[in-house]
Amino acid sequence: MSKQTIAIVEDEADITELVSYNLVREGFEVISAENGEQGLALITENLPVLVILDLMLPGIDGLEICRRMKDNPKTQNIPIVMMTAKNEESDIILGLGVGADDYVAKPFSPKELIARVKAVLRRAAKLDDSSDTSSDNTITIGDITIHPDFYQVFVKDKQIQLTLSEFKILQTLITKPNRVFSREQLLR
Ligand code: CA
Repeated sequence: MSKQTIAIVEDEADITELVSYNLVREGFEVISAENGEQGLALITENLPVLVILDLMLPGIDGLEICRRMKDNPKTQNIPIVMMTAKNEESDIILGLGVGADDYVAKPFSPKELIARVKAVLRRAAKLDDSSDTSSDNTITIGDITIHPDFYQVFVKDKQIQLTLSEFKILQTLITKPNRVFSREQLLR
C-alpha cells in the first residue's frame, strides 16, 4: 500500500518541521506550504488524505483555505485539522463552522496532534465504509444476483419478477446455500 499523504500549511518553520517529523515517523508522507496561496495550490494538486492547517497565515488565512476547500468538489471531502494559537476560541468555532474536522491549540504536543489526525482519518474511513454498505447488500451466487433492499432479482443481468413470498424463499435459500429447509421452515 502506498503511503498516505498529509499536507501541512503553516508559516512557522519550526512547527512544520516538528509536525512533519512526527507524521513521517508514523508512516505518512508529508507535503507542506508556508502561506495560504501555496497551501491551496498544494492541496488542489496533490489531494492529500488530510490537511493540517494553521489558522493565522500570511495572505489567505486558514479559515479562507477551509472555505475554498469546501467550495471545490475535488477537495471538499478532505478532512481538516486546524492549528490555532491560544485564546482564539472564536476562530476555533468559526473554523469548525466552515468545515474543519478538529483542531489543536498551540502549544500542543506532537503526540496529541497525531492522535487527532488518526482519529479524524478513522472517522473519514468509517463514513466511506457505511456509504458503501448501505448502497450494497447485494448477494450474488452463480448467475443469480439479489438486491434485498429493493426486492429485485437478476439472472444473468436480466431482472425477473417474483412475488414477495417467492423472493423471501429465494433469499433464505441463497443466504444458506448448503442447508436443507423443510416446507414448514420455508413458510415461516
Ligand atoms: Ca501562523
